[in-house]
Amino acid sequence: MKNPKYVYLFEEADGSNKKLLGGKGAGLAEMTRMGLPVPPGFIVTTEACLQYSENKKKLPKGLMEEVQTNLKTVEEKTGKNFGSPQNPLFFSVRSGAATSMPGMMDTILNLGLNDKTLEGLIQITSDGRFAYDAYRRFIQLFGKIALGVEEKEFEQILNKVKEKVGTREDTDLEVDHLSDICEQYLGLIKKRTGIPFPQDPMIQLKLAIEAVFKSWMGKRAVAYRKEFNITPEMANGTAVNVCTMVFGNMGFDSATGVAFTRDPGTGENVFYGEYLVNAQGEDVVAGIRTPKPIQEMKKEMPKIYRELERVRKTLEGHFHEVQDFEFTVEKGILYILQTRNGKLNAQAIVQTSKEMVAEKLIKKDQAVMRLKPQELEQLLHKRIDPNFKGKPIAVGLPASPGAASGKAIFDADEAERVGKLGDKVILVREETKPEDIHGFFASQGILTSRGGKTSHAAVVARGMGKPCVSGCEELRIDPKGREANIKNVHIKEGDFITVDGSRGEVYLGEVPTVDPEIRKDLLTLLNWADEIRTLGVRANADTPEAANKARQLGAEGIGLCRTERMFNAADRLPIVREMILAGSKEKRAEAITKLLPMQRNDFKGIFRAMAGLPVTIRLLDPPLHEFLPSAEELASKLRNLKEVEEAFSTMENISDAMKYLDPSFRESLGLLDHVVTDIIEIKEKRLDKKLIRKQQETLRKVKEMMEINPMLGHRGVRLGITYPEIYKMQIQAILEAAAELMKEGVHIQPEIMVPQVCTAQELKWVYQLVKKVQREVEKPYKIQIPFKFGTMIEVVRACMRAGRMAEVADFFSFGTNDLTQATFSFSREDAENKFLPLYNQRKILQDNPFEVLDVKGVGRLMMIAIEWGRKTKPDLKIGICGEHGGHPESVEFSHSIGLSYVSCSVPRLPIARLAAAHAKLKEGEKRPSEKYDPDVFGIPTV
Ligand code: ADP
Ligand code: MG
Ligand code: MG
Repeated sequence: MKNPKYVYLFEEADGSNKKLLGGKGAGLAEMTRMGLPVPPGFIVTTEACLQYSENKKKLPKGLMEEVQTNLKTVEEKTGKNFGSPQNPLFFSVRSGAATSMPGMMDTILNLGLNDKTLEGLIQITSDGRFAYDAYRRFIQLFGKIALGVEEKEFEQILNKVKEKVGTREDTDLEVDHLSDICEQYLGLIKKRTGIPFPQDPMIQLKLAIEAVFKSWMGKRAVAYRKEFNITPEMANGTAVNVCTMVFGNMGFDSATGVAFTRDPGTGENVFYGEYLVNAQGEDVVAGIRTPKPIQEMKKEMPKIYRELERVRKTLEGHFHEVQDFEFTVEKGILYILQTRNGKLNAQAIVQTSKEMVAEKLIKKDQAVMRLKPQELEQLLHKRIDPNFKGKPIAVGLPASPGAASGKAIFDADEAERVGKLGDKVILVREETKPEDIHGFFASQGILTSRGGKTSHAAVVARGMGKPCVSGCEELRIDPKGREANIKNVHIKEGDFITVDGSRGEVYLGEVPTVDPEIRKDLLTLLNWADEIRTLGVRANADTPEAANKARQLGAEGIGLCRTERMFNAADRLPIVREMILAGSKEKRAEAITKLLPMQRNDFKGIFRAMAGLPVTIRLLDPPLHEFLPSAEELASKLRNLKEVEEAFSTMENISDAMKYLDPSFRESLGLLDHVVTDIIEIKEKRLDKKLIRKQQETLRKVKEMMEINPMLGHRGVRLGITYPEIYKMQIQAILEAAAELMKEGVHIQPEIMVPQVCTAQELKWVYQLVKKVQREVEKPYKIQIPFKFGTMIEVVRACMRAGRMAEVADFFSFGTNDLTQATFSFSREDAENKFLPLYNQRKILQDNPFEVLDVKGVGRLMMIAIEWGRKTKPDLKIGICGEHGGHPESVEFSHSIGLSYVSCSVPRLPIARLAAAHAKLKEGEKRPSEKYDPDVFGIPTV
């Protein structure tokens, strides 16, 4: 069998084949073919590396012969000879895989140096010091990398010489010292390896190539690939780039530098870079001397600068991407040593995308693909000023992104009070509960000492787009004392703190932040994404304000409007409680009558804000006891009341008792007598008794309603069926709001959605109710109200019965939060706090299914429901409204299974829009096999 070709000259290799040549090699090949001045050289392919690994670490047969042949060509090109003392050729030996990967072998420079060629180098550079220094570095690097001699042994020798000279700086060493060091190094290598340092350049080259190949399987590189999920499809083996050395340190007509074709920090279309005169490449990186901005070259080396400007244009014109390249100038001649796609920050990606489309360098599709949804996220939140250098006092979980400062406040009522005064607030709690909701509204950010990334605090904060750090365990809160401690930092209520929910960090004091930048160029890019995507994007929004914001961010409707948020408002909660605690039907009806106009107004506000777009309103979902105080809270109040009652009974006699104890009190007891009279009066009115009775009644009710497992308890449609008055009121409020707005000429598209449905019978029951209310409302308004009726799909049985559900439903909306809980039989809070982290760590589960939609299980249920639902009703509209709706991978999945839309929290709208466009553009692309179950894709299932 004939050997494959393992070695390619730069000019003969196919620069588009990164997998074979590695990124660096492909770049060098491509640039050579484009006619850019790349020093001659050749590439040993990644295939040779794989062969080496498979072949018990032996180079493939014939490889070195191939190397030799190519080397000859390079010698001819350069007019120099490898190993020649008169006119020596030196090489750099550089590793490079398909994806850039730290942890592999460092570049060996000046390969080919030995005792004889050293003389040649001295001749060429007329700089003995430089030549010896180069030799010293080469022996050290080669000794360490290719021969495995420990670096610290070289350092010891170096340090001893420096000590003798009386300096700490390498730069103070003179020729003689350096030549002495080289001698000692060579001695060390002989001692450690048993053989002299290889003077034969060919042997040096062979050992260097082997060293590069070994480093591919080295511990650091393997760990890096594992950590960043670099699969063999992405990068398999490293190539070796053997490149003629050029010297940027041959005097003042020599230089070296690094440049970007555009500013990688801002995206501005300016030449950006740094250079050093009379220096070698590594000096720029090492920071020994401070490099100058590239613009100064205009004056210092005008000819080279003009050439570089040309290179800049040529590179972008060819690669259609911002390039990051390295160059060296040897005696007035420019060489390009590397190019790759520039790493830009999110803002720079946005700006360059827009501009490169205008310059016709790329198409809109490519512009949209350049921005990753995850990177976009950086742009959508307030961040801590990147120039700020302070250290956090604690780190918790990054539960909701963004940064905010404010006064630390330890309960929701106080937060509301302080917030109303116009102060900024960070709500600091051990954990939060639904009754803290007003505190969230008043706060800039949330900090909790307990709870995971999906604790109540985290979920609510994300929904509101407020920063949250949760599970900050070092935080010790004393809510009674209104203070907290983090290690030995003391925080009193009212002290300023800053939370960074993107990183989970907590800072003391007010840290400067920078605003999110939804700038015009980002809007342009998002509009292009909208042109591309076919998946609809809606928002989860519960208030007119949120609806307005959602519109601004491009929502095409509301996919989930939760009505319980409305019940929780401060002015509603007492009435809601009245309704729940009502002893009779009449009493309940009374409370409900009070709620009706309020709900109607809520809906009118939201419909108006979303005029022209659909609004899905979910009927009440949570179990009713969530609106009541907890049993513990009530019991403790009762205890207090009873204590007061007891105190009252003994109060009557207190002044007599005091007089008896000491007659001299007589004078001063007048005041006390007054108080006692007042107390007796209160007592006679039996106010305390009444209160106690009321609290006892509430407590009894709360205990009665207590559920073992509220998540699976009396909630959703079950509630609607047992208390039809509540659903009836909500339906009426929706339809009346719709009717009134229609009269005003506002275009509305209400959608009534029923939660927690598990059988079509439930849905049919609610449908009858809706029909009845519809007739009742349409009559007085003399109008036909257009609306849609549908169901959440969040119960496993509902998926199985989707065909029947579709008989009454105009639409489905997957509630993937509950559906995930139901599919795994995981209670989310318990899972995330107890075992999910371990599951992830052990790779029993790849991701947290509450963050990343589990396409293999939950996804498959969704596919079944879609197929059966649409069999009954082909035009069935189907969306997803769980938190997953804003997660890029889940958006992609939603697109691929034919959903009509995703609905996500308002702040994530731009991400969903972008992700939906990516999904469309990636259609037909092969999916990473391990992510998608072959059962689900490709093979016809269900
Ligand atoms: P990295 O992957 O760390 O960028 P490189 O292989 O690009 O490693 O090399 C490191 C340094 O060596 C760079 O500064 C580069 O400019 C310099 N270098 C590499 N090859 C040569 C060469 N043939 N001539 C001169 N300098 C070189
Ligand atoms: Mg490197
Ligand atoms: Mg480099």
